[in-house]
Amino acid sequence: MKRYNISLIKGDGIGPEIVDEAVKVLDTVAGACSFTLDYKEYLMGGIAIDETGVPLPTETVEGVLKSDACLFGAIGGEKWDTLPRDLRPETGLLKFREEMGVYANLRPAIVYDELVNASTLKPEVIEGCDIMVVRELIGGIYFGQPRANDGQKAYNTMVYTKPEIERIGKQAFEFAMKRDKRVCSVDKANVLEVSQLWRDTMEEIAKDYPAVELTHMYVDNAAMQLVRNPKQFDVIVTGNIFGDILSDTASMVVGSIGLLPSASTGDKTAIYEPIHGSAPDIAGQGIANPIATIESAAMMLRYSLGEVEAASKIETAIRNVLKDGYRTKDLAAYDAKEVVTTAEMGDIIANY
Ligand code: ATP
Ligand code: MG
Repeated sequence: MKRYNISLIKGDGIGPEIVDEAVKVLDTVAGACSFTLDYKEYLMGGIAIDETGVPLPTETVEGVLKSDACLFGAIGGEKWDTLPRDLRPETGLLKFREEMGVYANLRPAIVYDELVNASTLKPEVIEGCDIMVVRELIGGIYFGQPRANDGQKAYNTMVYTKPEIERIGKQAFEFAMKRDKRVCSVDKANVLEVSQLWRDTMEEIAKDYPAVELTHMYVDNAAMQLVRNPKQFDVIVTGNIFGDILSDTASMVVGSIGLLPSASTGDKTAIYEPIHGSAPDIAGQGIANPIATIESAAMMLRYSLGEVEAASKIETAIRNVLKDGYRTKDLAAYDAKEVVTTAEMGDIIANY
């Protein structure tokens, strides 16, 4: 029987609640598909600060690097917001992504037929929408040097090297090959030099993928187009800050933030996590939606472990559960037949 080592980082707020439900579903599907998952838990974020004094203990980095994949909940909360920047949970997370070399952040935004009413957009605008946002995650303005703030003057630097653009671009084209064969590269090439290099490099990559149609869009227009007519997009590829903003925009096309998974992949261990944060406002109440995390676990099976059948089983179960009207509180207003708790939702999905 195949065995995989999975590192778990539950984190803060609702993190532990939602990761526990994903583990429940993973174990059920592993049993059905004849493989075993061995889990090891590691600390990060606020809980790591409380227990070890730092947001990202060395053991966490070392342990995750040794594992086949990492399932991550969420980190942070008000309690740690007043710490110096270096010691905050979010600093630990950025450092973690950098250490793991996860340059590609994949965020699928799929509209479920059962939840077309959950979006703020009209059903006819979003029905059937299926977008993959490929965001560069460890470069660009979030990491560029120089950066400083002396109280009178502050600056950050948006830097991309050609190899950095090439590796994220190739990822996007590879995805497009398995999808609708369309890549929209988003930049601000009318204003930024770094965007011109981005655009030129995407054009070069496109030559290796003649079956894929490449278009370019300025980020301001892309934000508008995403809410005007999201179905025009297949794969969107973009840099770190633009991707941050556009993937949150894409998430609102879908509806609840509690539905959206992500994968962060590179050359080492990949990290799978919901796109939402630790939601301290609802932690401990049993009302968090675990679906984003369970979807992330399915992505982990598909991309890191190659357990495609198990991944499909989970995705199908989620669709059927939604079809049958089970909803956590965040989606209670949308054609719910029964409103269930976080743990009940995990049980129902595991047993479908
Ligand atoms: P971060 O900075 O970590 O991204 P954030 O400030 O963007 O965090 P979130 O933690 O994502 O905020 O929460 C935003 C809102 O969405 C909150 O009201 C929260 O309760 C809600 N929310 C987030 N995740 C879920 C979930 N899984 N189920 C239900 N509601 C959620
Ligand atoms: Mg957020």
